[in-house]
Amino acid sequence: MTNTLITVTTRPCFHCGREGEVTVSSAGLVAYNSGKHVQDAFPELDKTIREQIISGTHPKCWDDMFAFDEDAPEDDGEAE
Ligand SMILES: [Zn+2]
Repeated sequence: MTNTLITVTTRPCFHCGREGEVTVSSAGLVAYNSGKHVQDAFPELDKTIREQIISGTHPKCWDDMFAFDEDAPEDDGEAE
């Protein structure tokens, strides 16, 4: 099977309300559309990108949400 890269539009993000785009392999997309789990269809993708494929939530928006929740970042030495 020829494996090309396809850019797909993801659903509106639940945090910012905007759609997004992810680039995936055509083989992965076929596998995903035929019912494979996202982590099996796209093992090469970052977890946050897979999340965007599922829910539309952008990786950056996840960061925002968690940053909102967590006030104290673990890396020290960051003066405010
Ligand atoms: Zn977003």
